[in-house]
Amino acid sequence: MSKPQTHAFQTEISQLLDLMINSLYSQKEIFLRELISNSSDAIDKRRFEALTDASLLNDEEELAVTITTDADNKTLTISDNGIGMSYDEVIENIGTIARSGTKKFVEAVKNSNKDQTDVSLIGQFGVGFYSVFMVADRVSVLTRKAGTDSATLWESDGKGEFTISEADKPTIGTSITLHLRDEETEYLEDYRLKHIIHTYSEHISLPIKMLGAAPLDDEGKPIEDGEREFETVNSGTALWARPKNEITEEEYQSFYQGLSYDMQAPLSTLHHKVEGNMEYTSLLFIPSKAPFDMWNRDNKKGIKLYVRRVFIMDDAEHLMPNYLRFVKGVIDSQDLPLNVSREILQGDRDIQKIKSSSVKRILDELTKLAKNETEKYQGFWNEFGQVIKEGVVEDHANKDKITSLLRFASTHNSDDEQNVSLEQYISRMQDDQDAIYYITGESYKAVKGSPHLEMFTKKGVEVLLLTDPVDEWLVNSLGEIQEKSLKSVAKGDLSMSEEEKQAQEAKKEELSSVTDKLQEVLSEWVKEVRLTNRLTESPACLVADENDPGANLERIMKAMGQ
Ligand code: ADP
Ligand code: MG
Repeated sequence: MSKPQTHAFQTEISQLLDLMINSLYSQKEIFLRELISNSSDAIDKRRFEALTDASLLNDEEELAVTITTDADNKTLTISDNGIGMSYDEVIENIGTIARSGTKKFVEAVKNSNKDQTDVSLIGQFGVGFYSVFMVADRVSVLTRKAGTDSATLWESDGKGEFTISEADKPTIGTSITLHLRDEETEYLEDYRLKHIIHTYSEHISLPIKMLGAAPLDDEGKPIEDGEREFETVNSGTALWARPKNEITEEEYQSFYQGLSYDMQAPLSTLHHKVEGNMEYTSLLFIPSKAPFDMWNRDNKKGIKLYVRRVFIMDDAEHLMPNYLRFVKGVIDSQDLPLNVSREILQGDRDIQKIKSSSVKRILDELTKLAKNETEKYQGFWNEFGQVIKEGVVEDHANKDKITSLLRFASTHNSDDEQNVSLEQYISRMQDDQDAIYYITGESYKAVKGSPHLEMFTKKGVEVLLLTDPVDEWLVNSLGEIQEKSLKSVAKGDLSMSEEEKQAQEAKKEELSSVTDKLQEVLSEWVKEVRLTNRLTESPACLVADENDPGANLERIMKAMGQ
């Protein structure tokens, strides 16, 4: 057997470990949730791989997570019979290659003054394993990959380096042993561990086992050295498969937390069992708060796909459109083949149908909220509005529904809150007004103070104030709403009455020498200098031609190097 090798932790991981070791967090217990969740992922993977290679699983073996303690040595061990890791995978997965979330998590924690909630978010950032160093001063990972004979032992005190060596392990899977710090021995207590499991991992859909109480003698006293048996601590069944009316609000919420690492209650929970030609169950959650990585479009981990309770994949791409990527949940199909691949999913008609009904459920729920619970909806919009706007471009079939969900800041209000719907705008339009006016710009302050608004303010015409980066694309794809088109205040000419037009003509003659002169001087920079009726206070402003891109889009294109 080879000599143990020492490796340095990757720099960002070292910084993360430093935080774990040296800071005082009040929610250290979440390390157990992280380990159980890793075990659960590993078991899901083994089941999945065994679908194409039956030798990776034998029928007698119960797939489970087992938790044991050793009070004398102050160790806590979490074992699973999941997929396990090869030597190279251990090096890659723990210690040498930082995940994209590593740095972000370190920053989030540093910025939050060690706020406890941020530590509990660690799993969201893809670095949950390292939370073990909040409670342990030494950790060992012994693992054997399914389908192989050799095992690997990884050990570290979290201070800069880890060692790795070949090892022996009779069974497939992973055992993680935590040498608890002296002040963390509460994690040796059964009741404490059980409490944590109930709090965070109750709805992991596989059994979590711990040794039960010692057997009793004839007098009802525990036998000191009596053999204790392993008992399942959590409910261990798929929550979504249970009848709706038997599931409590708390159960839904703790299931949601297990999926999302979001400690807040979800905004909405949608649980449906569909029967008939195509049978499936969907349990979907709309979160209350946006996750840190909502802008990472590669992150498609919102929906878990199961086939008859077997976890198939995390890739939600085929189950939820991009603009609803914040939705979390589970879809469990009765009909799909167990060996379904991504390629099959791509073209599968049933999957398309499941996807479109799921989208419909979400949009209907949001429409309902927007109508009946405006405040709740406003909270949702403030978190997710920018992403929902992408839907107008992405999802043609649902364009009208999405359009009615849009909310904008407007000159009708005195602040920058985006709470005006297009319907509201239209209901306030003046009799002779033929377009929905908007202005785009970089910030609320910039658009609010724009000279382009002067004429509109004077005439009492409402203008939507659009400052999100996606807005320029949004207005170009919205088309007509109740036969009203959208029109930028910064483009082209405003319509005028006959008298206004005549007065303008007269002025134009009168001032032609001035405009001609300006045109001459500015010819290098502007296409045309002309008299305007759009200003009431400022002497001059820049306008884009009707057919040119707006100034804001021009700026965005420039930034993209075009
Ligand atoms: P994440 O779970 O988000 O990927 P973690 O830091 O919790 O991030 O785990 C890092 C990686 O280590 C996992 O992605 C997995 O590849 C590996 N790993 C951790 N625990 C186990 C385990 N019990 N069995 C197999 N692989 C594991
Ligand atoms: Mg994890």
